[in-house]
Amino acid sequence: MTQVMTRLNDRAWLELNLSNLRHNVAVLQAAFPDECKLMAVVKANAYGHGAGKIALYLNDLGIDAFAVATIDEAIDLRNQGLKADILILGYTDASRAEELFRYSLTQAVIDYQHAEELAAFNLPIKVQVKVDTGMNRLGQSYQDYDQIANIFSFEHLEVTGIFTHLSVADSLMEADVEFTRKQITRFYSLIEQLKERKIPIPATHIQSSYGILNYPELRCQYARIGIALYGVLSSSNTPTRLQLDLKPVLALKTKVALVKNAKPGEYVGYGRAYQVKKDTTIAIIPIGYADGLPRSLSEQQCDVLINGSRAPIIGRVCMDQHMVDVTDIPHVKRGDIVTLIGKDGTEEIRAEEVAGHADTITNELLSRLSERIERFLTNH
Ligand SMILES: *Cc1c(COP(=O)(O)O)cnc(C)c1O
Repeated sequence: MTQVMTRLNDRAWLELNLSNLRHNVAVLQAAFPDECKLMAVVKANAYGHGAGKIALYLNDLGIDAFAVATIDEAIDLRNQGLKADILILGYTDASRAEELFRYSLTQAVIDYQHAEELAAFNLPIKVQVKVDTGMNRLGQSYQDYDQIANIFSFEHLEVTGIFTHLSVADSLMEADVEFTRKQITRFYSLIEQLKERKIPIPATHIQSSYGILNYPELRCQYARIGIALYGVLSSSNTPTRLQLDLKPVLALKTKVALVKNAKPGEYVGYGRAYQVKKDTTIAIIPIGYADGLPRSLSEQQCDVLINGSRAPIIGRVCMDQHMVDVTDIPHVKRGDIVTLIGKDGTEEIRAEEVAGHADTITNELLSRLSERIERFLTNH
């Protein structure tokens, strides 16, 4: 009840559907081999959903491994009360070694030198070894076998994992599948070589969301799942080997601020970019690109939902508002709920649809949803 009351006063809000999140966790876990555990990727404010709320809820469900991009994201989660393992996937300067120790965080070491720099602080720091198997982003190359083996030899560094990242796991094109298989083979051969040197092998992980959807058979201790956990795919035109029944966690809603009529020949918005062709009813919607609604949606025939019907965005998306054509929707008035992502009656606008119109992927669309928008937990 208090939530409903708050929403009446709110400009814009995100509804986070916890039963869908719980459902996605169950569906994903059922797709892994038994020994594999879900590492929840909650970087970038849990892809815009709100990292603290999402991580604490997942931890209550029994998820005890989390990944973020930066040390400050990790410290933030500790400060909000998350006690589970947190792996920092991105680079952290060794000058912050003391904080890694104090907050009991796990740092990905991105090459041998990074390990050496962290070890120089003589603190018992947890690390995981990042191996580059072909993406040419972070990680010591799989070919530098000695350097990787040496990362295990520092007295104070506790190596709790070794992992790599696939660069085209989302593609089922033959050449891409071949490339991915090569990355996987490179990783497992490295593991075999380390075993031959009697190095105890810590937890291994390779897959992110598309890794699970296209290579579910890999036997690792973890799968690092981001976008799929939130119930969406990166884009709607990527076929996958597994089709999981994932449900979107997030809905983006706001309310009509003003309704007005325009005559043929009048213009709407900045740059006179849209000219009215027939008598038109316009609704002014109070969120814009500063809230994370991409400006590139201007004139892209992207719709919003009002009273269960679709209304197209007209004119340019502004920083704090945008305009839609509601001529074909009767009786639209101030305060009517507007759904930009989510369901209204039988209509649904999915994040994949909006991201497609904005020429991007849902990962970018969602992770840019601004702090200016309130986040509410719901159970339905
Ligand atoms: C972001 C990220 C993930 C999660 O990717 P999704 O495609 O969202 O599942 C996994 N691993 C690494 C290294 C990442 O940077």
